[in-house]
Amino acid sequence: MRILVQKFGGTSVASLERMQLARQKVLAGLQRAEKALVVVSARSGETNKLLDLARKWSPEPDPAEQDLLLSTGEQISAALFAMLLKDAGIRARSCTGRQIGIRTDNVFGKARIRAIDKDFILKTLEDFEVLVVAGFQGVTADGRITTLGRGGSDTSAVALAAAVQAQLCEIFTDVEGVFTTDPNICPQARKLDRVSYDEMLEMASMGAKVLEIRSVEFAKKFTVPVLVRSTFSDAPGTFVTQEEPCMEHVLVSGIAYDRDQARITLRAVPDRPGVAAAIFTPLAQANLSVDMIVQNPSHDGVTDMNFTISRKDLSNALRIMKDIQDSLGVTEILFDDNVAKVSAIGVGMRNHSGVAAAAFSALRRENINILMISTSEIKISCIIEEKYTELAVRTLHDAFGLSGPPGAGEDMETVRPSR
Ligand code: ADP
Ligand code: ASP
Ligand code: MG
Repeated sequence: MRILVQKFGGTSVASLERMQLARQKVLAGLQRAEKALVVVSARSGETNKLLDLARKWSPEPDPAEQDLLLSTGEQISAALFAMLLKDAGIRARSCTGRQIGIRTDNVFGKARIRAIDKDFILKTLEDFEVLVVAGFQGVTADGRITTLGRGGSDTSAVALAAAVQAQLCEIFTDVEGVFTTDPNICPQARKLDRVSYDEMLEMASMGAKVLEIRSVEFAKKFTVPVLVRSTFSDAPGTFVTQEEPCMEHVLVSGIAYDRDQARITLRAVPDRPGVAAAIFTPLAQANLSVDMIVQNPSHDGVTDMNFTISRKDLSNALRIMKDIQDSLGVTEILFDDNVAKVSAIGVGMRNHSGVAAAAFSALRRENINILMISTSEIKISCIIEEKYTELAVRTLHDAFGLSGPPGAGEDMETVRPSR
C-alpha cells in the first residue's frame, strides 16, 4: 500500500481558510499515494494559551494533567480537519495519539515514543483514505496521555512514517523549506534543495525549529525521506536525506541560533574526582539536559564550573544546585539568562581546518564577545549575549558566503582543506 504522511504545522491550520489550503495539499497527495496519514498541530498560539491557562490555575501544574490539557489543542485541529476532508468527499476520520496507538514512556511534557500500533493503522486504512492524527501526543502503558515536547508534531509525523514505511513524509510549514538560516531574521537566507540527516540534526539541536530534533533522529534511524515545504506555495521544498557525495563540497551549510539558553556558574568547586558526577547526575535524574560544559583551570584546588541549559529549566536546575551546594563546598551559584547560542553547521567542516577561527574573526569584527565555545566534527557553537543574536547570525551567514550563490564561502582564505 502506498502511504503518504503529511504534517501541517500551527500556522497551516490556524484558520478555516488556511486549513482549506492544507486540504488542497492532501488532495494533491492522494494523486500520488493510495492512502494518507495527516498529522496536525494545534492552531498557532493554542499551545501557549493552554500553558498560560494551566499556570493561571496552578503555580506548578501537575505534569500529567498539563499534558492532558495541552493534547486538546491538536485534537481540535484533527477533528476540524477531518470534517473538511469529509466535506470534500474523502473517506477520512480523526484519531488522537492514543487512538492511533502511539505508546510513549511516562516523562510528561517530553515523552519519547516507544511503539506504534502499525496493525491498527493498516487495518483502519482499509476503511478510510485518510486518517487525521492529532500530533504531539501519545499514551503511557498505563493509559495516561503524554505530550512529546514543543514542536513534537514533527516527531509524530516522522515516527508514523517510519512505522508504516511511508513513501514520503511531507512537513508543511510557513516557509518554503530549510534555509541556510532562519529566513525570518536574515532576508539573505537561501533555500537548500537537500540537507543531510546529520546536518539537519545539528541545525535542529542548535535551535533551527523548522524541524524538531527528535523527528530528525527518527528520520535518520529509519531512513525516512522527509520533504519540508510550504502550505502556501507550490515551491519544491527541501529534501532531508542521507549524505550524498555532492554535499561534501559545502563547507558550512547553515547558521542556527537558539535563544532558549541559560548559563549557570558554580564558583570554587573542589577540583577532585567525582565532583562533575555529583553536579550532573542529579540534573540528569531530573530529566534536565545540559548542553555546554566548561571547567576553568584550577587554582588552589578549586575551579569554576560553567554549563548551559534550556532557559525553562533554569529554576529547577538552580534548585538542584542549591541542594548540593553545601555538600560540595561551592561558594557561589551565579546564573545568566540573557545569553543565546549561535552555531555554524556543515558536513564539509570534517575535511577543513580554520572554520572555527574564521567564525571567531567574523564575530570579533562586530565586537561580539564569545562567552563559551563548543565544537563537533560538523559544528561550531558560541554562547553570546542575547542582544547580539541577530547580528551574529547575519555576520556568520555573510562570513561563510551563504548570502551569495551556492559555494561562495569555499574560497575563504582562512579556511584550508585538512587533507
Ligand atoms: P510549524 O508551526 O509549521 O511547525 P515552526 O514555527 O515550528 O513551524 O517552524 C518554522 C519556522 O522555523 C520558520 O517560520 C522559521 O522562522 C524557523 N526557522 C528557523 N531556522 C530555520 C531554517 N534554517 N530554515 C527554515 N526555517 C527556519
Ligand atoms: N502544538 C505543539 C507546540 O506548539 C506541537 C507542535 O506544534 O508541533 O509546540
Ligand atoms: Mg514546528
